Amino acid sequence: MQNKRFDKVQFKKEVKDNVKVLYRKTIDEATPQQVFQAVAYAVKDVIIDNWLNTQETFKKEDPKTVYYMSMEFLMGRALGNNLINLTAYQEVKEALDEMGFDLNVIEDQEPDAALGNGGLGRLAACFLDSLATLGYSAYGCGIRYRYGMFKQEIRDGYQIEVPDNWLKNGNPFELRRPEYAKEVKFGGYVKVEHDPATGRNNFIQEGYQSVMAIPYDMPIVGYGNGVVNTLRIWDAEAIDTFQLDSFDKGDYKKAVEQENLAKNIVEVLYPNDNHYAGKELRLKQQYFFISASIQAAVAKYKKAHSDIHKLYEKVTFQMNDTHPTVAVAELMRILMDEEGLTWEEAWEVTTKTCAYTNHTIMAEALEKWPIELFSRLLPRIYQIIEEINRRFLIEINEKYPGNQEKVKKMAIIYDGQIKMAHMAIVGGYSVNGVARLHTEILEKQELKDFYEMMPEKFNNKTNGITQRRFLLHGNPLLADWVTAHIGKEWITDLSQIKKLELYADDKKAQAEFMNIKYQNKVRLAKYILEHNNIEIDPRSIFDVQVKRLHEYKRQLMNILHVMYLYNKIKEHPDMEFYPRTFIFGAKAAAGYKRAKLTIKLINSVADVINNDASIEGKLKVVFIEDYRVSNAEWIFAAADVSEQISTASKEASGTGNMKFMLNGAPTLGTMDGANVEIVEEVGEENAFIFGLSADEVINFEKNGGYDPNYYFNTDQEIRQVLMSLINGTFSNDTEMFRDIYDSLLNTNSSDRADTYFILADFKSYAQAQEKVEAAYRDEEKWARMAMLNVARSGKFTSDRTIQQYVDDIWHLDRVKVK
Ligand SMILES: *Cc1c(COP(=O)(O)O)cnc(C)c1O
Repeated sequence: MQNKRFDKVQFKKEVKDNVKVLYRKTIDEATPQQVFQAVAYAVKDVIIDNWLNTQETFKKEDPKTVYYMSMEFLMGRALGNNLINLTAYQEVKEALDEMGFDLNVIEDQEPDAALGNGGLGRLAACFLDSLATLGYSAYGCGIRYRYGMFKQEIRDGYQIEVPDNWLKNGNPFELRRPEYAKEVKFGGYVKVEHDPATGRNNFIQEGYQSVMAIPYDMPIVGYGNGVVNTLRIWDAEAIDTFQLDSFDKGDYKKAVEQENLAKNIVEVLYPNDNHYAGKELRLKQQYFFISASIQAAVAKYKKAHSDIHKLYEKVTFQMNDTHPTVAVAELMRILMDEEGLTWEEAWEVTTKTCAYTNHTIMAEALEKWPIELFSRLLPRIYQIIEEINRRFLIEINEKYPGNQEKVKKMAIIYDGQIKMAHMAIVGGYSVNGVARLHTEILEKQELKDFYEMMPEKFNNKTNGITQRRFLLHGNPLLADWVTAHIGKEWITDLSQIKKLELYADDKKAQAEFMNIKYQNKVRLAKYILEHNNIEIDPRSIFDVQVKRLHEYKRQLMNILHVMYLYNKIKEHPDMEFYPRTFIFGAKAAAGYKRAKLTIKLINSVADVINNDASIEGKLKVVFIEDYRVSNAEWIFAAADVSEQISTASKEASGTGNMKFMLNGAPTLGTMDGANVEIVEEVGEENAFIFGLSADEVINFEKNGGYDPNYYFNTDQEIRQVLMSLINGTFSNDTEMFRDIYDSLLNTNSSDRADTYFILADFKSYAQAQEKVEAAYRDEEKWARMAMLNVARSGKFTSDRTIQQYVDDIWHLDRVKVK
């Protein structure tokens, strides 16, 4: 171990001192929250030494740095993860034990840093963990939202959104860095001045409003290697009035406006997953953190390098979806207007520095900004985008002379809108999808024209997850068991976990493995009893679907199937049925009506089923409130079945699927996203695959959809399930779930019926579920299957993903810290 170790005696003293200094209390008087703060500051002390040391090493060795630009970082809690990566978890646990505290309880005091919606934000967090662990120089760049993802409460079965005041007790791990503040300008107009000395036009923004972006740095600790990288999230503050230029001095109205601008910009995370709302404030957020981050990156580069033309040799900007893609134009602006480069020089640098990750093909998620809004808010940036577009159209015309169809499909500005994905593709050197199938769909369908014009830019990087959080921290029983069998190399080299295959047929190993799963189910059952007041049987099959609530993810199909099983058990009370607990966890975007109604439906079905004594507890349905990273860790550890049932072609990758696999839950899923690669690794016989293929879905869509009424009319079981949505079975108000019923059958709507092919896939889903039950009944078969899922999960570590980004896109230098 090269990093400074925890001295238990010293650590205990420090915790006591911290309680005294922070709260003027003795350790016995401190509340659990105060003990958490005291422990966190003691841990931060150690981290700071490593942090300084890492930055010192980076300064000396001058490695290339990736700036991972993302509107979202779904970090979860920091304390436990930092202790794990400092390899100090056990010692600190013991030290606290000796002081009479339980580390689990202390960890529980920390609010999740929920600066993200779901998969995209969690991916960013896993990437930071892997970058630090592999020893690469990296910054995460984002926004310090005052309010992160809302807390979800369930009242009377409905989702209620409660503000997430995550900073109310202070954030012990963050560091405010006002010395690196940057000014960000909005609005006004652009004045052009000809400079006779250089013969160039200078572009000067005037009449603007501005805010100060103040960085807060959070340490990202690598596993056992002394590396500490930085997540830099920006807060907004008003410019001090006395800093306004002389013309504005004493301009009270402007001062107030700037105060409000600053306050509003970082106020709250938009709670939409895979959905674009087109709000002006959202564009302000995007430009705010991108401008500040790029200014900071350029300033840092210039401290050590004199030639800005070679920026790309030391810096790369990875844009996590289209949200940060204004980076392309902002970098152009800085290079031309502030660094004095010509257009051609700036374009060369920009197109060697920026790279773009596509996360979805869902039409409603594509960002398009109206010219009117964009040019008013960002006049200089708009000018630059117009020029990028003008030059690109010339290129299109050179390659496809007179082809208006190509212009229409590929232009960056068209029909009064700016298409951010197109700008990212044109202005960057790499475009990647996030799973093999997803990248193929991009190349063959969604981005076909771009792929044909610039195939060299396109590549795939299948997503991954960090095993440090989702096994080592989240499932300590299984982690210890794995280490006991194959050693601890898997912690930093997950391919090693393949060695577990040797034990898949070993009866003793199977029994131990299943016992660990059982312990984890007991732990989750206790959590559910405490938080939901529902008693569940840890001997039942835990069948779990946790992810954002979205129609394409088809939680509706899952609950319809539960209703179908309920009907069967009621009609055939003596039929063989292995007890099953269906566990859901999902937040719906606050404005997404049908998603929220689906939550209500799940809870209404749960109410009826859980309270129907006649089914003798064979079926239980639980909706876990406030699904988030911290409770996710426990949920994955306890799952028997991983529900990954999206409409094929709609889920770009998924990462929840990988967390389940790593924790020994076989996938029940469609051939979508990374499920395809999971099945390829684990073997078809160790997963439960069903449903239409992506090609089949896409073909139906090209030909105007399909007719769900065929299934309704010809299948009496399906009809019975759908009728129970509107006949009072699950609500006294028979109109309660009418919208869901209509959405499936399109009785009076202009949308296509059953857009997500639920009825088309229903029977094949039900059959796959029967296979799950049969497999679970055979204990040895199940243990083997579950263990093989763990053993063959090696590909899905984010360490592998990051190494591929480094090899193919970023070309970073690996650094060793002493
Ligand atoms: C992994 C994760 C997700 C993404 O789940 P998918 O099933 O891939 O959509 C969302 N939220 C949290 C809290 C996660 O940990």
